[in-house]
Amino acid sequence: MTTASPVTLSKLVSRHEVAERTTAFRFEKPLNWTFKAGQYLDMTLLDPSETDAEGNSRTFSIASAPLEETLMVATRMRNTAFKRALNTMPPGSAVKIQGPSGSLTLHNDVKRTAVFLAGGIGITPFRSIVCRAAKEKLPHRIFLFYSNRRPEDAPFLDEMQALETENPNYKLVASMTEMAKSHQSWDGEIGLIDREMLLRYLKDAVSPIYYIAGPPEMVKALRTMIHGAGVDDDNIRAEEFAGY
Ligand SMILES: Cc1cc2nc3c(=O)[nH]c(=O)nc-3n(C[C@H](O)[C@H](O)[C@H](O)COP(=O)(O)OP(=O)(O)OC[C@H]3O[C@@H](n4cnc5c(N)ncnc54)[C@H](O)[C@@H]3O)c2cc1C
Repeated sequence: MTTASPVTLSKLVSRHEVAERTTAFRFEKPLNWTFKAGQYLDMTLLDPSETDAEGNSRTFSIASAPLEETLMVATRMRNTAFKRALNTMPPGSAVKIQGPSGSLTLHNDVKRTAVFLAGGIGITPFRSIVCRAAKEKLPHRIFLFYSNRRPEDAPFLDEMQALETENPNYKLVASMTEMAKSHQSWDGEIGLIDREMLLRYLKDAVSPIYYIAGPPEMVKALRTMIHGAGVDDDNIRAEEFAGY
């Protein structure tokens, strides 16, 4: 028998842009509401200004770490009724949240290396885990491979870079696939995350566990790539952001 996850209300605190067409929303953390870094929630708008056939609920990974004061989600601001309503509701407005759910959480065995593969907005669960690892000084070795078209599209990029100085066990490998369309300079990796790139950084990785998150096409492509590199299914955990 499965138990339904709890439902509670939460109020919008603030919103801010974290990349082009991408906004983070901070909500009050309900009392006694706990979650593990990497989990997600279902959010329902109450009495939204508009609605459409897709309805008033969406699933979002929790982008904040458990020790942060507020609960944060981040999303690409596509032109749908849900997102327009979310983007215009005043601070103090309540939403219903159900959860937490999901098991894309960091493994317990600190000897094993964690390899995170994030495509675009798929960074959200990994931001939570990487922030948690830094705050709690976790001993896990963590590599975050983070692929975007351009730096302008990469949510939390500066923050993910800055965390390297806080946590010596964590390494960011960000890669851009369409720098020709960017107005920023970039001296990191370019091109798709591929087997050669993984091998270059993961020479000393100890029995790595791979975690993948992002839009379904990207998750499928990354899974196929690491399969091709000989990684066993037992060592791959993936979450597809259905709806993209
Ligand atoms: C576990 C999980 C975590 C997620 N985390 C995030 C996150 O952190 N940030 C984020 O931006 N998005 C996340 N998503 C995706 C999010 O729930 C929305 O689907 C997405 O943001 C698109 O919403 P939209 O309003 O732009 O488009 P929509 O109006 O939802 O329409 C997009 C299209 O996808 C279809 N669709 C919608 N929902 C589903 C579904 N559940 N399964 C299959 N098809 C569907 C619709 O029919 C439509 O054709 C997550 C999804 C899952 C399942």
